[in-house]
Amino acid sequence: MPNYFLYARKSTDVEDKQVRSIEDQLAVLRALAKTEGLNVVEEFIEKQSAEIPGRPVFNEMLARIERGEAQGVICWKLDRLARNPVDGGQISWFLQRGIIQHIQTHDRSYRSTDNILLMSVEFGMANQFIIDLSTNTKRGLNEKVKNGEYPSRAPVGYFNDRRYKTIVVDKKIAKAVREAFEYYANGDTRLEDVAKFLAERGIHTRSGKTISRDRVTYILTNTFYFGLFRYDGELHEGKHTPIISKQLFDKVQKVLKGRGKPHKSPKNESKALCGLIKCDECGCAITGEVKIKHQKNGNVHRYAYYRCTKKRGACSQPCVKEDDLTGQLPDILKEFILPADCAAELLKMAEKDEKEALQSSGAESQAIKEEIAAISNKLGVLLNALLEQDIDREVYRAEKQKLVLQKRDLEEKMANLNKGVVAWLEPLQNWIKDAVLLDETVKTGDLSSKKSSLRKICGSNLFLKTGKLKFVPIKPYAELRYALKKFSKEETCLISERVTGIGPVSPPWQGGIIPVYDTRLSNFPSA
Ligand SMILES: [Zn+2]
Repeated sequence: MPNYFLYARKSTDVEDKQVRSIEDQLAVLRALAKTEGLNVVEEFIEKQSAEIPGRPVFNEMLARIERGEAQGVICWKLDRLARNPVDGGQISWFLQRGIIQHIQTHDRSYRSTDNILLMSVEFGMANQFIIDLSTNTKRGLNEKVKNGEYPSRAPVGYFNDRRYKTIVVDKKIAKAVREAFEYYANGDTRLEDVAKFLAERGIHTRSGKTISRDRVTYILTNTFYFGLFRYDGELHEGKHTPIISKQLFDKVQKVLKGRGKPHKSPKNESKALCGLIKCDECGCAITGEVKIKHQKNGNVHRYAYYRCTKKRGACSQPCVKEDDLTGQLPDILKEFILPADCAAELLKMAEKDEKEALQSSGAESQAIKEEIAAISNKLGVLLNALLEQDIDREVYRAEKQKLVLQKRDLEEKMANLNKGVVAWLEPLQNWIKDAVLLDETVKTGDLSSKKSSLRKICGSNLFLKTGKLKFVPIKPYAELRYALKKFSKEETCLISERVTGIGPVSPPWQGGIIPVYDTRLSNFPSA
């Protein structure tokens, strides 16, 4: 009388969801053995997928069958025994050689004398099922990606909404991420500072530590934040809500690129003005230095200096005491304070312009819409070319990336246009605010706020010559200072702009500010 092994398997695979539990399988198979009069010598239970060869319990069972401990197997279905060609082949081979004489399933019986081919087909089907399943999963993913759905875990600032299977903005965290981009974009922030900034807003590693520089870089270079995501080496347009503009992203990339080498941490906080001033004589950067003198009587004196780095060779400029330098700042800043009543008037005028601009923005928005449509069309053509195998995948990816980025730029332009007015209003309002606040900065601001005001006013046009700061203000601060100097409060004036167009500009160019009663203005049509 042959001996039988009873084998039951259930895995956590998707494919196994329909399969009865192990308890169920055991109960039915034990009953089956009884009614068929099969002598079960041992039960084998496996809780592992059969997709990949190498199930330990299955292997042990086969080894013992080979040693002659049993001649038959009882299992729920053939696919419980094998779902990959290696295992399937082994079972077939054992049957063919008579090592296994009989396999009994809950509804069928297979004997070594049977048509082995039939059983091979059954094993083959089980194998095919696995192949189909993984292709289906992949196909499902691709479908998702094509629809602009990111098929993976949402990056920080977003979360996966399980109910609707979408990616949703995590408002509080997203705000911190956006601010981190803005913080870094201003150019004098280190990655470590961004990490600290994020930590203060609740973004840290799982164990609560500050995130690494690499992690910060990863966040700052993730296109997901402005609406595109990379999947399978390709850039896709996402359906999710962007939390930053591509413009801001591009700005950050520029800063990152300029920062190839790691930044040394500052030795002390006193060098606030580093990176702002250039030497007037040789054009090198002005750097800060701190000297500490210990006197014999135990007193310690701390001296902070600024001096030319002299990287381009000899330079005769002396070094300057920190206090002498910072002492000059209030007088410089004072020249650019916008009186509050002027600011109010300006804001009113801006509002009026906004209304007019809105009315005329229709045509421009139509033009952008057409450009976007043209790119969408090109994307379609490109995909067809790939499907028709006219171009290879590499070319497709490169071209697609170009188009998708272009499209995003246009969409952003369009959004700005639609937002209202157009992109100039907000910067103008911000500038008015800044210029009014300068009053406060001069009176009570700390060194770093003075520095940031100075940078706004002069850009990189700030020089040091024999201990004195020299500077050329940039627009519109240059005009503001001119107007403040040249006109009384009661006078109205206009900032005259160089006329753009074809033809020579009549020299000499009298750029700057002209009073409204200037005769040159009579040539303009009145509003
Ligand atoms: Zn110099």
